[in-house]
Amino acid sequence: MPESAADCGLLYIVATPIGNLGDISQRAADILARVDCIAAEDTRHTQRLLQVLGLHRPLVALHEHNERERHESVLQRLRQGESVALVSDAGTPLISDPGFILVRAAREQGLTVVPIPGPCAITTALSAAGLPTDRFTFEGFLPTKRKARLDALKALRHESRTLVFYEAPHRIRETAVALAEAFGAERSVVLARELTKAFETFYSGTAEDVVEQLAEDDYAEKGEYVVMVAGAPVSSEDAATEIDPDELLTVLLREVPVKVAARMASELTGLSRNELYQRALALKA
Ligand code: SAM
Repeated sequence: MPESAADCGLLYIVATPIGNLGDISQRAADILARVDCIAAEDTRHTQRLLQVLGLHRPLVALHEHNERERHESVLQRLRQGESVALVSDAGTPLISDPGFILVRAAREQGLTVVPIPGPCAITTALSAAGLPTDRFTFEGFLPTKRKARLDALKALRHESRTLVFYEAPHRIRETAVALAEAFGAERSVVLARELTKAFETFYSGTAEDVVEQLAEDDYAEKGEYVVMVAGAPVSSEDAATEIDPDELLTVLLREVPVKVAARMASELTGLSRNELYQRALALKA
């Protein structure tokens, strides 16, 4: 055991490409070439990256199912003076990927953790989406069950920061419909598919437009997705807390048909047009 932290090895957190292997940084390649060991989410996957880079380093598996037990042996290597690189299958480790238990424990023990920045699907998607990026919130993967997903989205409808989610391709159509329901058909949405890869695609427009674009694209359920939603206008958040939607609908229904009342109320409150339509129907009845 080394006498001080200075004798311990460094733990490098190394970002790797999210598709295009050309996106590996020079520094990441240099670190991977010289560490004593690479802790990888999937050793076979990382082996392929090492082959492309012409590297041969020892690999150990560190994934969500074994991190709790395995991280101690990685810490031991560091304490013995070995350097270790942590990589995930794609992008930045710890971002919806393993590594949190290891990094937290390393820091608690006074070991040195060195980030080697690089690709991350969140920032890659945001950089080209054309949505505000001065303030955003990353919400990870959405719940897989339809009702839980809709509830999670509805809970965010007054959030004024740009919202970012990861989503699986086989749920993307359902999720787009849920976005329109939760945030209103008019909210701006951008879906980034297959970033940095041959079939990179951006679907963008209102939530309603994006639902249609996905319906028209036979390949929509193939590839990986980042889902981005413009934040609610701050004024509609304020309005939503001040205006009682039922009172507003009652007044509007005296003058205009149900559909128009729902649309106007949605614009004024930021609430879902569909939900207001159902409320308006109930009030009218
Ligand atoms: N650590 C990764 C990062 O830094 O982005 C994310 C890992 S998470 C397990 C995988 C999810 O990230 C995918 O399901 C998808 O939502 C998103 N993702 C990863 N690569 C992507 C790509 N090339 N294009 C679009 N989304 C991607």
